[in-house]
Amino acid sequence: MPRKSEAIVVGAGIAGVMSALELARRGASVTLIDRWEPGHSRAASTDYNRVFRAISGRDEFYTRWVRDARQRWLEMQAETGQTLYYECGALILATAGHCDWEDATPATFDTVGVPYYRFSADDAAAHFPQFDFTGISYALFEPEAGMVMAHRCVRAGLELFERAGGTVRRGRVVTDENERLMLDGKPLEADLIVVATGAWMADMFPRTIKPISAIIGINVLYTSTPDGDDSFDQARMPCWIDHGEGSFGLSSVEGSGVKAAVVIPDRIDLDNDERLIKRETLSRTRSYIRKRLPGLIGERVVDSKFNQVILTPDTHFIVDWHPGHDNVLLAGGCSGHLFKHGPVFGDFVAGVGLKEYGTADRFKIAGRKKLSPRESPSGR
Ligand SMILES: Cc1cc2nc3c(=O)[nH]c(=O)nc-3n(C[C@H](O)[C@H](O)[C@H](O)COP(=O)(O)OP(=O)(O)OC[C@H]3O[C@@H](n4cnc5c(N)ncnc54)[C@H](O)[C@@H]3O)c2cc1C
Repeated sequence: MPRKSEAIVVGAGIAGVMSALELARRGASVTLIDRWEPGHSRAASTDYNRVFRAISGRDEFYTRWVRDARQRWLEMQAETGQTLYYECGALILATAGHCDWEDATPATFDTVGVPYYRFSADDAAAHFPQFDFTGISYALFEPEAGMVMAHRCVRAGLELFERAGGTVRRGRVVTDENERLMLDGKPLEADLIVVATGAWMADMFPRTIKPISAIIGINVLYTSTPDGDDSFDQARMPCWIDHGEGSFGLSSVEGSGVKAAVVIPDRIDLDNDERLIKRETLSRTRSYIRKRLPGLIGERVVDSKFNQVILTPDTHFIVDWHPGHDNVLLAGGCSGHLFKHGPVFGDFVAGVGLKEYGTADRFKIAGRKKLSPRESPSGR
């Protein structure tokens, strides 16, 4: 009988958990290692939820991945009996003079087969009275979109991984001067080692990953829904993307309050910063809410999060072999949009890791360059 492949996955955010699960499902013997308890609040894969939307401008690759991911989240939801996904829809607000990304999207949706509506600003105001559409030329609405429950998805993936025979352990993996992986003073050894350490990957691989990464902190605020009013709940309001204002948000879910983020890139010390939001963010987010969600004026902030993303120059993920260690596969490069792809990303990583196929050109470490907003899958 052939020996089972021994695999180690380092990092138990969504990238690591889903990769570990898919490796275990393919018959590998897998150990998943993290510095802290999976689901912890320093990881990018924390918080109640993440937006789930197909819009990726002219990029058909991620648009198809999202369609596949929707199916897989629904399957995982059925398998675990937990609510992992709310299909409340996603509303994309196209600001006049700032809508290359939105303009490029309908052709991609038509090719891939993503359902959507295009509303004039007046029609959008009639359908979504929570929003003030001042400055918006039109809106795209994706009905088969919504939000994934981030923390719960990580924990559910972990549960399925353990059910599939995987082992979870605590530990801090470090690298030596040759970027070789070490644990407890000894080299880490296995047939396959997948490193999915999110933003921490840059410091672990100062020669290989740091040159193609920028790490930024993002503050998000949750604002209470008005007393006695359910119109800001996910059952009645979609998530939204407001690129013209550098903002996005999610309707209230399970009592969370409405989440809004005005992306003001902030420095972050991954290990040492307290995860408390900055005062400047509070006032910027409040003025955004005053402008876009007038029904929330005067409502109080009830929760907040401060977490990081690791951005690659072209905002494509990283799934590639370490140039000096041929059993080490680097998997991450979140660029602010990996969560929603979780199950598809994990499946892809497992296939590359077990040499079923090679990686995609866009995920290779070499040859990264910044894309124009028109070409970029994230419009940045
Ligand atoms: C505010 C915010 C909003 C976002 N919104 C969206 C959205 O709407 N939709 C979307 O799809 N995506 C969104 N994202 C991006 C998404 O959350 C990330 O792409 C995704 O969570 C990255 O997962 P990861 O597993 O790569 O990293 P992480 O979740 O950070 O996991 C890395 C793990 O590695 C562990 N680790 C690190 N170093 C070591 C080590 N040396 N040894 C052992 N373990 C180690 C860490 O403890 C951590 O658990 C958002 C991100 C942020 C911060």
